[in-house]
Amino acid sequence: MVQVRSEPEAAPRLGLFGGTFNPIHYGHLRAAEEVCEALNLSRLWFIPAAQPPHKAPQEITPFALRLEMTRLAVGDHPVIAVSDIEGRRPGKSYSIETLKSIREQVGPTWELYFILGLDAVLEISTWRQYRELFTLCHFVVLDRPGYERTRLAEVLCREVHPQFQPLPQKAGFQHPSGYKVLVLATTLMDISATRIRRLVSEGRSIRYLLPDAVRRFIIEKNLYQ
Ligand code: ATP
Repeated sequence: MVQVRSEPEAAPRLGLFGGTFNPIHYGHLRAAEEVCEALNLSRLWFIPAAQPPHKAPQEITPFALRLEMTRLAVGDHPVIAVSDIEGRRPGKSYSIETLKSIREQVGPTWELYFILGLDAVLEISTWRQYRELFTLCHFVVLDRPGYERTRLAEVLCREVHPQFQPLPQKAGFQHPSGYKVLVLATTLMDISATRIRRLVSEGRSIRYLLPDAVRRFIIEKNLYQ
């Protein structure tokens, strides 16, 4: 009898895309879509920060409104969803805590990919327990206009671990723990939430910078006036 040996199943992959999302815009959304495709993610969660550690609470829009805008933007995407995990924890929203509790929630079989922009990773040394983060999951770094990719290696080796090894074909770097920092060339979009808030406060158009449902929500709730 012929033995048919099935290939071992690939581990499911979960992308974690944290941010303030004040508001979410097409820079975030298109990057998420392209990461899903490039890494064949089974799921991607946008994770709005309830209390971003770097921002004063009075400076930002309430969590519930940012969460709602993120949900409106995602709609019923087959892979992408929105997690309110950081709103269910008191105090500042530290990524290290989020990552550990997601690992507990999904169990050991899922591969986790923490997604962030180049601007954010270049500031990683300001994050709580940032060195440990790189020993818990893979990272995906998105290019962002105005930020030099060449600075990534320098920051990783100087601030995180001196023995990051470059991956073939300039795909990124590998931490001694085995976890990777992948650099993905997603479509560059020079869109920021700061600019969107400024345009609204100046009474100017934000159409086509973000989904129309989010634009209408901003108008309806009088945000960023
Ligand atoms: P703000 O202007 O208020 O600082 P932002 O537009 O940078 O906001 P965040 O919510 O702070 O948005 O970003 C969440 C994550 O998305 C960060 O890791 C950031 O680097 C990344 N990101 C934001 N905008 C873009 C963009 N246009 N292209 C790629 N990545 C982006």
